[in-house]
Amino acid sequence: MAIVYLSLGSNLGDRLGYLQQATSLLNAVPEINVVSTSSFYETEPWQMESENWVVNAVIQAVTSLSPEKLLDECQRIETLLGRKREPQTKYSDRTIDIDIIFYDNMVLNTERLTIPHKLFHKRAFMMVPMLEIAQDFVHPLFKKTIMELYEELDNPEMVLLYGTRV
Ligand code: AMP
Repeated sequence: MAIVYLSLGSNLGDRLGYLQQATSLLNAVPEINVVSTSSFYETEPWQMESENWVVNAVIQAVTSLSPEKLLDECQRIETLLGRKREPQTKYSDRTIDIDIIFYDNMVLNTERLTIPHKLFHKRAFMMVPMLEIAQDFVHPLFKKTIMELYEELDNPEMVLLYGTRV
């Protein structure tokens, strides 16, 4: 069993509803058990040409799936929830985006997957929710805790509290 951290984001339609549905659908996969979820945060679109603010959360889960199979499930759920992929516009509006941030202490670089997520250490919207549920987790590449990485951010104030804990 691996302990994994997933980042969820939505900036279209019922954003909170999409995050809740994605969490339920992940938990419904027999090989995935959601252990804890962060609060919801509303954040300004980051490197996206959009005016629609994003609702973000991080979940902790345990899984017996390999990283690739876990990504398959994440992408299946994204499609189920109406995610449209437009290859030309990488950061576009989305009903739901599910990214794998960490998979135990694994470091992986394949064509399909970079773990830890390659932008985690620059993204307050991933770190702040994760701080709630795993502030002592050590980043396997930087060898620093999430709190230490957060303190190094240039723009930590970009995250606003939006909702309540689920
Ligand atoms: P996105 O548009 O954020 O859903 O990401 C698109 C692509 O990123 C997917 O096709 C994945 O193959 C790739 N990818 C690389 N690393 C990761 C990761 N850690 N989690 C999720 N997707 C990833």
